[in-house]
Amino acid sequence: EGDRGRNKCGGRSGDRLESRDLPPREKTEDRSSEMRTGLFGGTFNPVHNGHVAAMKAFKQVARLDRLTVMPTGTPPHKRFERSVSDADRLEMLKLAVGNIGEVSDYEMKKEGKSYTFETLEYLKSVFPSDELFLYMGSDMLLGFETVWRRTDEIMKLCTIVALSRTGDDLEKLENCAEHLRRDFGAKIEVFRIEPVVVSSSQIRALISEGKDVSDLVPKAVGEYIKEKGLYRGGENGDRCFGV
Ligand code: ATP
Repeated sequence: EGDRGRNKCGGRSGDRLESRDLPPREKTEDRSSEMRTGLFGGTFNPVHNGHVAAMKAFKQVARLDRLTVMPTGTPPHKRFERSVSDADRLEMLKLAVGNIGEVSDYEMKKEGKSYTFETLEYLKSVFPSDELFLYMGSDMLLGFETVWRRTDEIMKLCTIVALSRTGDDLEKLENCAEHLRRDFGAKIEVFRIEPVVVSSSQIRALISEGKDVSDLVPKAVGEYIKEKGLYRGGENGDRCFGV
C-alpha cells in the first residue's frame, strides 16, 4: 500500500560493521513524562527463550524505561480449528515476560488486522512525551521495506533497534540499516548480541513430533503447553503478523 519499493536490504556495501550506541539520555527535570518506551511485537506462538533473551537485550541496549510486549491478534480468517487461542498465547506470554515488561492485549482486542504504525501511534497517544523504540529481529528488518505498511510513519515515530537472530547475518543487517538511514533518514541501530537461535515454528514442529521443548521455552511456558496439550495436532502456527 504505497510502501512497496525496491528492497536494497541484503545488498553488500562493504561498510565496516560496528555496533552503535544510542545517543546519551538527555537530562530532564521530570523523568516520568519523558521515558524511553520500547515496543516488542510478535505472534508469540509460542513465546520462546529467543524472545525472552531479545527482550532483555532490547531493554539494555536501548536503555528502556519501559517495555511493552504486544502479541498480534489472530484475524478471523486465519483461525484454524486446531489453533492455539489468543488467550493461550497471551497467557504464555505473560508467564514468560514476568517483570521484564508489560504485556498489552491492545492488538488482540482491536477489530481487524493490526499494523505496527497504528500501534506506535497508539503508544504515542498514551505516552505523548515518550521516545519510542521498536524492536526487530533480522527477519523483520530485512523484510521491512517491502512487506511492512506505512514504513514512512514508522520511521518518523520511533528508533528501530535490530538484533541478529542467527549471529551470522550482521553484515547484511548493518547494510540494510545503512540504506534505510541514508535513503529515508531512519533512526536505526543494529547491535551485536549473542542470539538464542530458536523459532516458534521450530517449537511447534518439535511438539507435533512428540519431542521435548523444555530447553527452548521458559519453564512455566513448557508446563502450560504440556498441561493444555497445545501444538500436538501438527502445524497450527499460521502466521498472522500484520506488520
Ligand atoms: P515463527 O517461527 O512462527 O515465524 P518467530 O520465532 O519468528 O515465529 P515471532 O513471534 O514472529 O517469532 O517474533 C517476534 C519478534 O521476535 C520478531 O521481531 C522476531 O524477529 C523476533 N525473534 C524471534 N525469534 C528470535 C530469536 N531467537 N532471537 C532474536 N529475536 C527473535
